[in-house]
Amino acid sequence: MLRRFVPTVATAKPHNASGSCRWLRNVSPRPTVVVIGTGWAGARCVRDIDPQLCNIAVLSQRNHMVFTPLLPQTCTGTLEFRSICEPIVRVQPALAVEPNVNLRTMVFDVDFESQQVRCMTVGVLGAGDKVPVEPFNFRYDYLVLAHGARANTFNIPGVEEHAFFLREISEARGIRRRLVQNLMTAKLPTTTPAERKRLLHAVVVGGGPTGVEFAGDLADFLRQDLPRVAPNLKDEFRVTLVEANEVLGTFDLSLRNYAAQRLSEIN
Ligand SMILES: Cc1cc2nc3c(=O)[nH]c(=O)nc-3n(C[C@H](O)[C@H](O)[C@H](O)COP(=O)(O)OP(=O)(O)OC[C@H]3O[C@@H](n4cnc5c(N)ncnc54)[C@H](O)[C@@H]3O)c2cc1C
Repeated sequence: MLRRFVPTVATAKPHNASGSCRWLRNVSPRPTVVVIGTGWAGARCVRDIDPQLCNIAVLSQRNHMVFTPLLPQTCTGTLEFRSICEPIVRVQPALAVEPNVNLRTMVFDVDFESQQVRCMTVGVLGAGDKVPVEPFNFRYDYLVLAHGARANTFNIPGVEEHAFFLREISEARGIRRRLVQNLMTAKLPTTTPAERKRLLHAVVVGGGPTGVEFAGDLADFLRQDLPRVAPNLKDEFRVTLVEANEVLGTFDLSLRNYAAQRLSEIN
């Protein structure tokens, strides 16, 4: 079930005065709508904007939307990463037509006075300083803030540094890589039984829908796929789901009970 997302819209009086910002796009007299973010809210908003009425600029750290409900399945290889990504230009084809623009960038500030978004280029992975990271500004007439939220770590020490998060494709890739590496290391004759046990124990923190789904998918992977690739290890892999209150706490009681029972059935 998908919630209905309502993006924040900060509207301001349209104007055409030129400014000092580097990425001013006043080539067309129409007002410019800047949308920050290509998640559910940003993508839906961009899709519904009429390109006949305004210029559209999408500024986001990624050039695609991620279908998050299926993200857990990519960690175990049930789904391929590209099958849950939708390029934002496919969501709104007018983005491929100038003066509309879709930029991969990090927004770090908004100056509501001068109606400018302050951005930083994000460079190219592995290119080092050959591709410099530089600031630039982007002028807007209407601004949509759809940058989502960060995961709450409740200030628990070590979480930021040592845990995997699951919101982005890159994070799902990291989890998948670690699962495969642990599995392959566990098979080595040099690995001690104690180390093997540690390598084959996955802990999922958070018994909300995402945690339950991910833990369930991991358990399915262990029951159905692992016996084929590592038959000797199939009984050694463990998944622990940690939840401070109740699993699926916001759901109906019958669903909560069913989830708890099913999770213990599949270990
Ligand atoms: C694994 C998983 C499964 C889920 N399953 C469901 C489900 O079944 N049903 C449901 O209703 N919800 C589900 N959710 C929750 C749902 O995905 C989120 O509520 C939703 O993604 C929020 O949408 P959003 O557009 O506000 O933010 P996001 O989807 O997080 O998008 C934020 C966008 O802003 C960009 N951005 C962020 N900061 C900056 C910045 N500084 N500069 C530029 N760009 C920036 C990001 O790159 C991204 O494109 C799930 C979440 C996860 C992680």
